[in-house]
Amino acid sequence: MLKEIEQLLVLQDRDQKIKVLKAELEVIPLEQKRVEDNVAAKTQALENIKQRSRELELQRKKFELDARSRRDSIAKYKGQQFQTRKNEEFQALGLEIQRMEKEIQATEDQEIELMEQNEIAHQEIMQAERSFKILKAQAEQQVAGLKQKKANFENSLRQTEAEREQLSQSIDPNLLFRYNRLFLSKGGDAVVPIEHEVCMGCHMKNTTTLVHRVKLEREIVHCEQCGRMLYYLP
Ligand SMILES: [Zn+2]
Repeated sequence: MLKEIEQLLVLQDRDQKIKVLKAELEVIPLEQKRVEDNVAAKTQALENIKQRSRELELQRKKFELDARSRRDSIAKYKGQQFQTRKNEEFQALGLEIQRMEKEIQATEDQEIELMEQNEIAHQEIMQAERSFKILKAQAEQQVAGLKQKKANFENSLRQTEAEREQLSQSIDPNLLFRYNRLFLSKGGDAVVPIEHEVCMGCHMKNTTTLVHRVKLEREIVHCEQCGRMLYYLP
């Protein structure tokens, strides 16, 4: 194989590795964000149930206070009943007391309903807290794993880039320039084999004369169709 092609193939291998590592490194922050967003969403969901439970308790207290103030009123009316000498007034107070007692009953029914709802909310909170604890532990593990992965990739990238730098120094600058341009424009393969007269980069057939020149291995030959550098693979 032509020495230049051999060198370029090693260089291309490092460039492809660099390309993959960079793509992997770009994905990691997105993966981390996804994990963190999920934790944030579950935190919010848990907070929402807790807030609902607090609201239920506030409402229940309000009913409790309502009932208490009505009981105070009843006590007051009973005192007035005791003091009055007018039968009409006595009866009117009695009706008022009855009305209040009914209202107390209704209020207490609502209070019980709220207590039952809050009991369910408490169970939901406990369940949500349990799953949240598991989720959070998993998320911490995932984030730690991603950080480790990132460090490993960065390390490999530094190493590969250093190797690439070293390799590129022994390649003719003009050839290197042509190679670099091809690597970028062809999406990562600048130097490709030719098999049965077909370029493995663009999968198009080349002329027999060109294939012959590739086989001779005396010069850098470019594909007639896509311009990639070719080497012969028997
Ligand atoms: Zn081609």
